[in-house]
Amino acid sequence: MDIDEQCQLCRGAPETINHAFFACPFSGAIWSRLLQWLNINRSNMEWTDELKWAETWCKGRSSKAEVYKIVLAAAVYYVWQERNNRLFQKRSKGVDGVLRQIAQEEDGCKKIFTRIGPVLCPTLGNFDEL
Ligand SMILES: [Zn+2]
Repeated sequence: MDIDEQCQLCRGAPETINHAFFACPFSGAIWSRLLQWLNINRSNMEWTDELKWAETWCKGRSSKAEVYKIVLAAAVYYVWQERNNRLFQKRSKGVDGVLRQIAQEEDGCKKIFTRIGPVLCPTLGNFDEL
């Protein structure tokens, strides 16, 4: 990644791994919504800290840890796709569009969330309701 490039998502900072996931206001907004969904009560962290946290958290074999892993993977994938769409095709889905994609296109994610979502975060409703 060329660090001289401006971030495609917010155009407010140089594009680095740490910025793109999840310090960027754009991906940060997506990530904090996903953390809410997962009923994980903390704010966004920098990429390296986020990974460290994920490593510890995912040692657990609870269904919550499984969902977290899938959602993290989906978030990274779709945020990066959004970045590439903006860069190469000048198309943008926005925060809600990316969240909808994560919910709808990530089939495994959706299935798991539909199964245990209501248990994880009853107040936030179902993944499908985005
Ligand atoms: Zn940015």
